[in-house]
Amino acid sequence: MPRHFFFDLDNTLTRSKSHITSAHAEILMRLTERADVVVVSGHPQKDIREHLEKALDGRYYILAQNGNYAQMPDGKIVWERRLSPQQVAAIHEFTTKARKHLAYKVRDENDIIEDRGCQVAFSFIGHHENQDIKDAFDPDHAKRKKLLEDLREDIELLRKKHNIQILIAGTTNLDIIEAGKTKGYNITEFIKTLGWRKEDCIYIGDALFPGGNDETVIGIIPTRPVKDYKETYEYLQSILK
Ligand SMILES: [Mg+2]
Repeated sequence: MPRHFFFDLDNTLTRSKSHITSAHAEILMRLTERADVVVVSGHPQKDIREHLEKALDGRYYILAQNGNYAQMPDGKIVWERRLSPQQVAAIHEFTTKARKHLAYKVRDENDIIEDRGCQVAFSFIGHHENQDIKDAFDPDHAKRKKLLEDLREDIELLRKKHNIQILIAGTTNLDIIEAGKTKGYNITEFIKTLGWRKEDCIYIGDALFPGGNDETVIGIIPTRPVKDYKETYEYLQSILK
């Protein structure tokens, strides 16, 4: 059994942007008694804690904002790689242009851009839009891939001039981060910092396919793809027997 378990959050430990079920929290609790648990997500740290059960607080490591915010179970911050004000301004310029280009009607104008400190999350229709609507919005990523294609030159400029990279994430999002500061990079740094061995780790995620937001972990530590969060707990139950 691996000694260190890394999990994506959305659709790996919980339904996307939803609270963990109590039955699943209980399985995860049992795992924390036997191994280290690290939650790696594009979400900010506050969301991760909210989406998991209170009882699990203090029992897992956090790699929030794609790992650009790292925290120990006792709350000690390991690092926080904040975007510079210039980078944030350049990102806002880009998202303003992207929104004009898309011209979607959205329910809440203030629910589109989330400045998370170490990354900016851009939802096409709203971070807190109804989950069924979000699930149906862009399941094959085609809408987001098209925008990235349409604004190719702006994206190129963001990268060259401001060292910014854009990733497709979640159901309706683009995660905008410092170039290269992906889940894969941050997991590499994290296990080095903690002195963990790669072969003792496993990463479980629903988006380990090409272009998915877990893809950068491939080749860093062993990975296990899951179809959805239900499959994660079937796997955990089988190894906790
Ligand atoms: Mg996911």
